[in-house]
Amino acid sequence: MMASRHTVLMRLVASAYAIAQKAGTIVRGVIAEGDLGIVEKTCPTDLQTKADRLAQMSICSSLARKFPKLTIIGEEDLPFEEVDQELIEDGQWEEILKQPCPSQYSTIKEEDLVVWVDPLDGTKEYTEGLLDNVTVLIGIAYEGRAIAGVINQPYYNYQAGPDATLGRTIWGVLGLGAFGFQLKEVPAGKHIITTTRSHSNKLVTDCVTAMNPDDVLRVGGAGNKIIQLIEGKASAYVFASPGCKKWDTCAPEVILHAVGGKLTDIHGNALRYNKEVKHMNSAGVLATLRNYDYYASRVPESVKNALVP
Ligand code: AMP
Ligand code: MG
Ligand code: MG
Repeated sequence: MMASRHTVLMRLVASAYAIAQKAGTIVRGVIAEGDLGIVEKTCPTDLQTKADRLAQMSICSSLARKFPKLTIIGEEDLPFEEVDQELIEDGQWEEILKQPCPSQYSTIKEEDLVVWVDPLDGTKEYTEGLLDNVTVLIGIAYEGRAIAGVINQPYYNYQAGPDATLGRTIWGVLGLGAFGFQLKEVPAGKHIITTTRSHSNKLVTDCVTAMNPDDVLRVGGAGNKIIQLIEGKASAYVFASPGCKKWDTCAPEVILHAVGGKLTDIHGNALRYNKEVKHMNSAGVLATLRNYDYYASRVPESVKNALVP
């Protein structure tokens, strides 16, 4: 076989773009069909639907078929079964292949990459019809760091009328940039916190209150909250609780870092994404596009002491 002139990383990102788009179509299809097939995982706010299951099967099988040596870690625990051919996406987004691979990643081999898959982020909101909270997340890690990612938002524009294009895909690579949206900042001096809608507790609210915000947005999805940061709707994503996992943060972190933002746990530690790492982000999430230090300095000691990394 002829060697591709594109690097493994760029081919993977180009494929992940098409695969995330396909997953978005699956997520819309389940709503259109009307039977969500809701299953409770650990508790009534921790759900799985037919869309989570089908999208994960589609994403993981499509990636594994093209890149058999990847390590792929998906959120959903599914029994092994042969996947329907119609769930397989074989395409790639050609625009991505026109971009140069950052030189530090040009010799990466397939077996060195770990892919973190959240087939449907914001499932609780999905079951409640808050459809624009939902994203499909494919994050790519190398040497424990999140370096590339794709976010599909299947219901972007769904309230903008029938003429608007439904759905979009955002992608990014560290050292190259992030694409598929218009970068915008919150007006200077305004502190708008975005946090969980379905998984709140006293620590979460204590930490948000300590930031002395002008406004607090409570929405579903880690992907959705990072999109709020890069589009100037929120200045900080604050979640002082365990609950969020590596597949929730990997792709969003890349998009944020690629445009100069910062995502850490609540103590300020970088998150690691090697395959051996614990899935749970036990020490929460703190993310901003700008002014990270302002928010980090306002996390109360009592909150820090309650959250062990
Ligand atoms: P949220 O901001 O509530 O949408 O949470 C962001 C991501 O973390 C979603 O994928 C949630 O499902 C997950 N998450 C956060 N807290 C919990 C929890 N207590 N139990 C299960 N999943 C959680
Ligand atoms: Mg999630
Ligand atoms: Mg999920």
